[in-house]
Amino acid sequence: MNMKAQKPLGGNQQQQIDIKDTEMVKCEDCGNASFIQAFFLRRLSALMSPTGQEALIPIQVYSCGNCGKVPDKFKQDAEG
Ligand SMILES: [Zn+2]
Repeated sequence: MNMKAQKPLGGNQQQQIDIKDTEMVKCEDCGNASFIQAFFLRRLSALMSPTGQEALIPIQVYSCGNCGKVPDKFKQDAEG
């Protein structure tokens, strides 16, 4: 006797990301793979500021938890 169960169709499988499809980011200098949150600060001069006052704009990046290096990719984004 064939007892094959009918699985319901649908679900949320299309939304799932397989961790195997992702890539581990490692520090370019020491190969460490854990990072800590850090910020670059961009200073906006009073002349350019819409408020007429100098402003600091934080840009979140990640720095190596071992040697402190910020990957160049983040630096390029922050330096514009
Ligand atoms: Zn490092």
